[in-house]
Amino acid sequence: MYRPALAALLALLCSSALRAGEEPPPYLYPATQAFRQSVAEAHARGLLLTDYHIHIRGGMTPEKAALRQEASGIRSAVLENLGRDWPLSNNVALASFIDACSHVRADGRRLPVGVQVNDRDWHRQIDPALLARLDFVLADTMIMGETADGRPRRLWLPDVTIDEPEVWMEAYLAHNLRILDEPVSILANPTYLPPCISNRYDELWTEDRMRQVIAKAVARGVALEIQAGSAYPKPRFLKLAKHMGAKFTFGSNNFDDKVKDLSRWFEAISLLDLRPGDLALPDKYKPTRTD
Ligand SMILES: [Zn+2]
Repeated sequence: MYRPALAALLALLCSSALRAGEEPPPYLYPATQAFRQSVAEAHARGLLLTDYHIHIRGGMTPEKAALRQEASGIRSAVLENLGRDWPLSNNVALASFIDACSHVRADGRRLPVGVQVNDRDWHRQIDPALLARLDFVLADTMIMGETADGRPRRLWLPDVTIDEPEVWMEAYLAHNLRILDEPVSILANPTYLPPCISNRYDELWTEDRMRQVIAKAVARGVALEIQAGSAYPKPRFLKLAKHMGAKFTFGSNNFDDKVKDLSRWFEAISLLDLRPGDLALPDKYKPTRTD
């Protein structure tokens, strides 16, 4: 005798009215008024927002990236780490990564597919035919020198110490400029500093050093990333870069399938008064140098 009531209750539970109140899955942005408004304001400026730093790791998949794009209006571009100590450690792994990502469509189009490069000879190790299939190559400056046991030194690790920051900074600037000479499309986390010297940012990143990085990026056609979860680059660098004619990209740099808070993107858009011509849209990889 309770069946009709139960059926009605089940119908109600399954109704869209109730589903509308549910939290979206973690790989989709929360459908808040504030988020929608920020995206709408960017679109009103004519900006095509693309996240060029979505790692396919930690449960994130190209399919989730595609659903995220279709739900948010922010384009998804996917990548993964390439290098000897990284998930894409050889050309076979890279080929299958590109194949897997290339099957996925968002809004009827293939997702842009890239790599994040971690070895400084990557452009000599990668199969040129695979390089030609990539839409973009992203690099950061966060691996420099060697540890005591001869491994590449990851500057973000807590045990990194630097005895003479000024001397180190000169070597680090040269490292930044060398990376910008590689055939990369995007410099991620520009002006990054290791935690042990991060409180000396203004002193170590002099205007002259910033200008050298920006001038090289402009000359080489390398975009500078504005990253959701990073304190780098700071507003002083961003303003100088805009003034010097640099192009920018946006990134989130995830470790799992959860969305990040994009406040830093929207703050930068308004701080720099970004217009469509300020954004790089590397949809087909064009090497700036072949060697
Ligand atoms: Zn990354």
